[in-house]
Amino acid sequence: MSIKKSGVDEKVKVVCRVRPFLDHEAPDDSVAVEGSEIKITNQRNTNEIVSFRFSSCHGPEAKQVDIYEQDVQPMIGKVFSGMDSTIFAYGVTGSGKTHTMQGTEDEPGIIPRVAQYLFQRRLDYPKHTVKVHVSYMEIYKELVYDLLIPREGQGAGLSIREDSSRNIFVANLTDREINSLEEFDHIYNNACKNRSTASTKMNVSSSRSHAILSFQVTVAMDNDEPQKDDDSDTEQYALSGKINLIDLAGSEDNRRTDNGKERLAESGAINKSLFVLGQVVESINAASSRIPFRDSKMTRILQPSLGGKAQGMMIVNIAPGQSYFMDSYNSLNFATKSK
Ligand code: ADP
Ligand code: MG
Repeated sequence: MSIKKSGVDEKVKVVCRVRPFLDHEAPDDSVAVEGSEIKITNQRNTNEIVSFRFSSCHGPEAKQVDIYEQDVQPMIGKVFSGMDSTIFAYGVTGSGKTHTMQGTEDEPGIIPRVAQYLFQRRLDYPKHTVKVHVSYMEIYKELVYDLLIPREGQGAGLSIREDSSRNIFVANLTDREINSLEEFDHIYNNACKNRSTASTKMNVSSSRSHAILSFQVTVAMDNDEPQKDDDSDTEQYALSGKINLIDLAGSEDNRRTDNGKERLAESGAINKSLFVLGQVVESINAASSRIPFRDSKMTRILQPSLGGKAQGMMIVNIAPGQSYFMDSYNSLNFATKSK
């Protein structure tokens, strides 16, 4: 038995989450979580056990609130002091990524919980002007689409640009100021519908695209003394931090099951962007001087809020059961390499 450690004390930490068996699945005990360790057993091959350790591991009984309180809240809370953070949900289709990020009405996931937190925390800043902006995009086959507006007319997607100070941004991406949790819920629910109707129209599953939701929080100190000479300079300072919450495309090796031309092109793009993401995380954690941000659209877009002082977290989602053994093994290995 080998133990692989990952994501403990790293810049981009790695946690894992095993979802419960669903009603139509036959339960078995091929996945076990003990403390921060996960063990998977290959019951088809001499019961070989492979074990991995992460900075935390959530078993099938873990609730959305547990993951939020233990791993998410401590990280994103610093956005009010201008700290950027990025959270990825990684795993094969069916492993629980969307449940973890988006959740359901009864069991809201990370995105609605973060939104709730931001509007609640804003009350702690009565003497400041706190602004929350949201943007939401989808990357499909290396093309970037805006999810806050309907897909019609978006053609081949938005382009990535660099301004004169070398800041990277997505040109023409909607960036909406939101003033309340209700307003956020409304916009977000519509955007989720945009995501699924767009993929239905293109006849592809939304599990083949990456969805990136970003909150930009700006905290500005109001100036009590109105400035006589220059009324444009009413703010003494402003801090701005960003939170990126990402539901990644399914990490399964699509080449195994689909061999249509279109599906191959799609799989190539998915496999490449996830591979680049793994390399970026690995290089950041190894404090390497060369981080391959430019090798995929997603990592280029995320570059400003990944390296440097930013904090990151990868949630590796695992589906239980022997039939997922190879998928789980691949996902856990991917995460372990990112150390
Ligand atoms: P993915 O986005 O990775 O393809 P989903 O989030 O859609 O996976 O999850 C697959 C199925 O499992 C869905 O029916 C979802 O409701 C269910 N599921 C996932 N995680 C959990 C969980 N922690 N508790 C209960 N049901 C879950
Ligand atoms: Mg999903």
